[in-house]
Amino acid sequence: MKFILNQEIIEIDEPLGSSTLDFLRNKGVKGVKEACHEGDCGACMILVGKLKDDELVYRAVTSCILPLGEVEGKHVVTIEGLNQKELNPIQQALVDTGGVQCGYCTPGFVISLTGHFMNSELENDNILTAIEGNVCRCTGHASIIRAANLLSDKYSSVKESKQQWTKALIDVRILPSYFSNIADRLRELKKTPQQTKGRFIAGGTDLLVQNESIENPVFLSEMNLANIWSDANYIYVGAMANTEKIRLSTDLNKVLDIKNHLFTVSSLPIRKQATIGGNIVNASPIGDLTIYFLALDADISILNGETSRIIKLKDFYKGYKILDLEKGEILEWVRIRNEEKLFSFEKVAKREHLDIASTNSALSLTLEGKIIKDIHLSAGGVGPIPMHLDKASSFLENKKIDASIIKEAALIALTEISPIDDVRGSAKYKSLLLQQLIYAHFLKLFPEMEELI
Ligand SMILES: Cc1cc2nc3c(=O)[nH]c(=O)nc-3n(C[C@H](O)[C@H](O)[C@H](O)COP(=O)(O)OP(=O)(O)OC[C@H]3O[C@@H](n4cnc5c(N)ncnc54)[C@H](O)[C@@H]3O)c2cc1C
Repeated sequence: MKFILNQEIIEIDEPLGSSTLDFLRNKGVKGVKEACHEGDCGACMILVGKLKDDELVYRAVTSCILPLGEVEGKHVVTIEGLNQKELNPIQQALVDTGGVQCGYCTPGFVISLTGHFMNSELENDNILTAIEGNVCRCTGHASIIRAANLLSDKYSSVKESKQQWTKALIDVRILPSYFSNIADRLRELKKTPQQTKGRFIAGGTDLLVQNESIENPVFLSEMNLANIWSDANYIYVGAMANTEKIRLSTDLNKVLDIKNHLFTVSSLPIRKQATIGGNIVNASPIGDLTIYFLALDADISILNGETSRIIKLKDFYKGYKILDLEKGEILEWVRIRNEEKLFSFEKVAKREHLDIASTNSALSLTLEGKIIKDIHLSAGGVGPIPMHLDKASSFLENKKIDASIIKEAALIALTEISPIDDVRGSAKYKSLLLQQLIYAHFLKLFPEMEELI
């Protein structure tokens, strides 16, 4: 397969399910750093550019968990591809603010900050979001934030010049001049047809953390499964929609505050890579999207060749990593009712942002007067599967809402779960957390229920 690495066309015959970082470093591209190799720290950040509707779009990606096959036909940019004779304005700002310290994380920061100014499928909230997936371990963070804010003040108008954004960034020396003909060069790259049997890879953010390399990968990004659309009854989320796309979806934000709810899920580069299909099929008991959509009583569609079947998401999980999914079947989409509900999502992790939950939970309900209708509670990290709390939910159905009923429901929830002691906390702690999270849902929706405090 072929791709462009900085300025050079690369043609390789490597395993497509292996890590892009490993390939780059073995090739001697050493500006891309290896540290956590789990997508957490951003030292290995690269920019990946592709043509979308004939327009060049880029995003910053953690190359350690990016399967090599995903860069086919694309433009891969490492720090070597941004270097010019003199420091570029982003590098200079980091030097000027003392944001380089030991320097190991610096290439990753430069890449992420550059990505912020480039044309992207999904815009960043602000420049600090762009570096939320980068970790500096030697106390340079405050200086780096200063550099980022300076750059934002100085170049945000360049970012807004949508028309000729590559030219605008070349003019201010954020990009070297060779970027001006990358779009034309990508148009000339031919893709090789991929195999159809093997291990499905969506974003790879679970798979490449769990495995060094994936044998016989089948890239689901080749299928048209990333759309989000709605009709009068439902909102549909394609299995390949990434978390950031879901977070920013206009359809979903009409009925949910999902933009804010999903802000604590991973970091921006991971959110742009990690799909809802991968979250559901990976079946981690603490998958945030899974817990979120379980409480929305979602349906899922499973594709088997030409036929498909629709089941409840909550019926998909049969035991620890045991799913109602035959070999070769593909999760096609997830759908929820297209209506506003009272909804709450809570996640407790060791850090507030960018961490996997110890326990998470969500709640949806509607009220008829003071009577609870159509209620769904979910909980993660408290059993072998992501859980829909059947008993607590049905206990609350048709009850008049008040604090004593909620307390009783929380106790019922505790009879449904089977948490274990692990690195994220003891079983006792997780039970207590779930109880508190259930109270937190109701307090958020009904602040007058002070008895729950
Ligand atoms: C640094 C980091 C931070 C993270 N933080 C969070 C977090 O805060 N919250 C959270 O919930 N998760 C988090 N994750 C986990 C991960 O990002 C999510 O679970 C993600 O949604 C997985 O999606 P993916 O597309 O990367 O799946 P992949 O890794 O590509 O696939 C996962 C599994 O699903 C299968 N699969 C994928 N799509 C389909 C499909 N459509 N049909 C059939 N099978 C399919 C694959 O074969 C594989 O078995 C984090 C991961 C990393 C690396």
